[in-house]
Amino acid sequence: MLVYYSDVFKKHVPPFRHPEAPDRLDYLVEGVLEAGAVVKEPEMRADAWDLIYAVHDKSYVDYVKRICERGGAEIDGDTYISPGTCDAAALSVSAVANAIDKREVALVASRPPGHHAGFVGRALTAPTQGFCIFNTAAIGALYLGEGVAVVDIDVHHGNGTQEILYAKDLLYISTHQHPATLYPGTGYPEEVGEGRGEGFNINIPLPPEAGDDIYVKVVDEFIIPILRQYNPKLVIVSLGWDAHRDDPLGDLNLSLKGYLYAIDAILKLQKPTVFLLEGGYNRSVIKRGTKALIRLATAGEFAPGEAQTESAPGVYKRFEELAVEVRRYTGRYWRL
Ligand SMILES: [Zn+2]
Repeated sequence: MLVYYSDVFKKHVPPFRHPEAPDRLDYLVEGVLEAGAVVKEPEMRADAWDLIYAVHDKSYVDYVKRICERGGAEIDGDTYISPGTCDAAALSVSAVANAIDKREVALVASRPPGHHAGFVGRALTAPTQGFCIFNTAAIGALYLGEGVAVVDIDVHHGNGTQEILYAKDLLYISTHQHPATLYPGTGYPEEVGEGRGEGFNINIPLPPEAGDDIYVKVVDEFIIPILRQYNPKLVIVSLGWDAHRDDPLGDLNLSLKGYLYAIDAILKLQKPTVFLLEGGYNRSVIKRGTKALIRLATAGEFAPGEAQTESAPGVYKRFEELAVEVRRYTGRYWRL
């Protein structure tokens, strides 16, 4: 497994105490080293900014560049730009494009995160950009251009990725805490895509406190059957560790066992797969999750180090109602 990492990704620095801070990557790299892997410094691509301009509105990209040049700023209540943000973002896009070119299994350990960033920054009806600057996952998907599936297992809906891919026949599957209970407030099952993209946008909202038992069903009954039917050339995983029960921002109850179950099922499809770091704010979870991911991808070792979590009966019942809704919309396009 290729692991792309650079200290440049730590040049995106908050002006004050913030959960999305550079030290997240220190913990991630510790996990990489404990797994016995090495990190590879990505090469900055000459076309990195072209790839960003190809996806985001020119006015928005120009605005971000200007703020980098002028010393940084808070651009909304959640999101900041620092002088090093633009280098970090361009190298992040470079790493994803290079990983896609290699057609292997790779982890891109970069910041800033991206899945909430839409065409002009703030996506759909979200109140803020949710720590995200450019949508690295969507940029990667559109760089390859066809046959890409983006699987988003961050606790938050990837509203930016949805917005950018909504009219494209590229598959986007997102599992996330129910939008009525968490930022960014989108990600309902009826958001199925439009035009050529109709049927290719799949939202699977989960009730707060959902555990691994629910997640296993989501993987087996939705994610994997749909991925098999789509038969992607390449899978991009928007990997956020914030659905973990110990994360300070989300209210889901997954353990690393639930995560590893999903990751294992995706890897068993035997497709080139690029894991891309999105959220996840418990440093220990980032470290141990990264280690478990790499041990699984490199040695086939399923060792999450945590026991499966079970959902309370009321939570499970709520999930079953939501699953009926997902089937009602998604079942028009896919055999479930
Ligand atoms: Zn998140």
